[in-house]
Amino acid sequence: MTSFDLVLRGGRVIDPESGLDAVSDVAVSRGRIAQIGNGPVTAPVDLDVTGHIVTAGFVDVHSHVTDVAGMRLRALDGVTTAFELEGGVTPVEPAYRRAAAEGRPINYGFAASWALARMATVGGVDLDAGLGTFMANIATPAWQGPATPVQISQLLDRLSADLADGALGIGMLVGYAPGVDPAEYLRVARLASGAGVPTFTHARDLIEIVPATLIDGAEEIVRAAAETGAHMHYCHLNSTSLRHVDRVLDVVGRAQAAGSRVTTEAYPYGSGMTGIGAAFLAPERLPERGLTPADLTYAPTGEQVATEERLRQLRADDPGGLVIIRHLDEDSPADRDVMLRSLVFPDAVVASDAMPLTWSGVVPDQMAWPLPGTAFTHPRTAGTFSRALRLLGTGDGPLGLTETLRRCSLRPAQLLEDRVPAMRRKGRVRAGADADIVVFDPASVRDRATYADSTRPSAGIRHVLVNGELLVRDGAIVTTALPGQPVRASAR
Ligand SMILES: [Zn+2]
Repeated sequence: MTSFDLVLRGGRVIDPESGLDAVSDVAVSRGRIAQIGNGPVTAPVDLDVTGHIVTAGFVDVHSHVTDVAGMRLRALDGVTTAFELEGGVTPVEPAYRRAAAEGRPINYGFAASWALARMATVGGVDLDAGLGTFMANIATPAWQGPATPVQISQLLDRLSADLADGALGIGMLVGYAPGVDPAEYLRVARLASGAGVPTFTHARDLIEIVPATLIDGAEEIVRAAAETGAHMHYCHLNSTSLRHVDRVLDVVGRAQAAGSRVTTEAYPYGSGMTGIGAAFLAPERLPERGLTPADLTYAPTGEQVATEERLRQLRADDPGGLVIIRHLDEDSPADRDVMLRSLVFPDAVVASDAMPLTWSGVVPDQMAWPLPGTAFTHPRTAGTFSRALRLLGTGDGPLGLTETLRRCSLRPAQLLEDRVPAMRRKGRVRAGADADIVVFDPASVRDRATYADSTRPSAGIRHVLVNGELLVRDGAIVTTALPGQPVRASAR
């Protein structure tokens, strides 16, 4: 008898890397998977998981959730690692320090933030190492204007300092600053290429949406990959492409075929969410995306925006206030087809774009659990991965179970592993891998969060281990568990 810390007994173990798919025991010791097999083992924690899938915990490369409460909600969707990469933070060091001091339930990490670096160097904004600063200044024209050569070199210096501090890449919210010179985007991509890290872009407007855009959003990303050699990751391709998704996927597919390193992600929802002060939500610009004010729901009050005047007022009073944007009708088969196209694209990863919880009334302590009923978010925060399993991987889903799991764990880990050796131990179920494990019931796994009830946890997620520690046991959060660890890039 060999003794371990914990054993998951009798589950169907799926490892998307090796192709392992067999009923087996999984033994965990000191935070790692120690053994997979059916030999005699003992452990103080011995869980019978017969009838369940045992696989690698989900790795989310697009999450704006950084507090304990929101991360617990993510864990109930099977997420064991979640990174703030598209927005990023600047400076990264205090963000890592704060998370380590407070403790986090799941693994975390940050990219350097081009937008925040620009807010500081061009817009004169004081930074506090959080995305809140971005939201508060989202509508301020000062940071979106042209930059002098001196400002650009200051901006690049800031990003370089963050990369030296272990930032996982560079987040580029260029879609929020449509007037920025495309040459600046290329400079940042060149910096990333030199450092060997990926960039994560919220694309600029597509030419079909804004014919006067300085450069087509999709072409800008693939051009940067071709000209600089950088790994360009195309964030939420679904929500910036909308009904032009086929043209955008064609652009990306051709770039990939030509040898450029362009990767993509998508989330399985028809509505977006961002700060109501975003440039593309100006009343006069809504028709570009076929929207009217009534397609917007202001999260802090749940109010459907009635008129252009009301939209102007909300943008002025609370530019960072979160708003749901109804782009596609999830109940319409034609729109659902549009929604799924970016998810079934070869090698696209599932990523949530999870949003911070918005509270009506008093903001509770982040350790409060169960979640008080006064929180609102986008349902993608609570349900992305279970919904992906339901729509893509179970029943007659277009990808099947193993391929869907690969896009939820292994593929996202691989996006980062060149410069982040720790990611080579994630997204896998094999001896020596980190014991970040999700155990779920394939018959009942499904998302339950809706636009009306946005923080309802997913169903069917039975156990979640992070670094070998039980964070979710029998479908419930273990409130004493804060096993999340920082993930940082290694120095070159
Ligand atoms: Zn975005």
